[in-house]
Amino acid sequence: MKIAKPNVKQSILGGLIALLLISIGFFSFTRNKEKAREENIKAALKEAYDKFKTLKGGKNADYIPYLAKVDSNFYGIVIVTTDGKVYPIGETKYEFGIESISKVFTLAQALQEKGGKVIMDSIGANATGLPFNSIQAIEIEGQQPQNPFVNAGAIATVSLLDPKNNQEVKWAKVQKNFNRFAGRELKVIDELYKSEAATDQHNEAIALLLKSYNKLYDNPDIALDVYTKQCSFGVNAKDLAVMAATLANDGVNPLTKEKVVDSKHIPQILAIMSTAGLYETTGDWMFKVGLPSKSGVGGGIISVVPGQMGVAVFAPPLDKAGNSVKAQKTIEFLSDKLKLNLFAARK
Ligand code: GLN
Repeated sequence: MKIAKPNVKQSILGGLIALLLISIGFFSFTRNKEKAREENIKAALKEAYDKFKTLKGGKNADYIPYLAKVDSNFYGIVIVTTDGKVYPIGETKYEFGIESISKVFTLAQALQEKGGKVIMDSIGANATGLPFNSIQAIEIEGQQPQNPFVNAGAIATVSLLDPKNNQEVKWAKVQKNFNRFAGRELKVIDELYKSEAATDQHNEAIALLLKSYNKLYDNPDIALDVYTKQCSFGVNAKDLAVMAATLANDGVNPLTKEKVVDSKHIPQILAIMSTAGLYETTGDWMFKVGLPSKSGVGGGIISVVPGQMGVAVFAPPLDKAGNSVKAQKTIEFLSDKLKLNLFAARK
């Protein structure tokens, strides 16, 4: 009997064909998985939008006159994934005041310029448990700004940025940093800025009090003005989602691919978002939602899902602490539906 000798050429060819089939299989498996994920995100967004669109409750901020006039019915949600896909629904083009959400991005700039230790030593990282503009909070805990997301800490953060005593250059650097996070040139809403500047006596008092305790590191007028201007940046929900996705993507803007902040600072920023992002109700928020987030009195909230996505919601009416009622409900729903909670075990 003749035993067929294996033909070397044939075996190589067979091997290559098998490899090709396996790769095609793997490719279509990951494509299908990706497709399913996309469909899940779209369905969850639609469900959330329909569910909360007519939700009542809360009211626009009115201590800044401009904010009281914004249409309370605006509602938009955007998810931007770390691979640069954008999922919008609702009002996602209207530009509103970024307000306290801006504090996240000047913190990033300050960490980049000064490092974590300086931020810890000069400002702090603990929650106050008190409203965002509390004077009492400064007094109670050793005359410290407390953390970069209350007004005292945010004004102090701006004061830390270089250069000192040069408002123009300081502001130009702040602007540049925001533009890199958003991946486009953001503009200050002039009417909002004027409205804030005309009514910011409380923040002025905070700045002066900090100065008296040597906890403000630049001229108080400069720190306050740059802070007020950064709060008046006009952003739409997509801008905010890109900015949040940049934090989720290890500091790289997923649309422009620009590295905006060093990797080592990302966990530090997210830690403070997790302890102080929604003011005195951050504990409740983390209990329900489990995502580092930041709200602003303009009606926006951003959440960061590390390695996955940035989420942004815009809906002006606020609860008593100053957090958008609809945006909170929306993100709570999405966190549950898309299994985003950071503290849930994954295997
Ligand atoms: N500009 C506002 C202020 O300083 C920002 C506050 C906020 O969004 N919580 O009061």
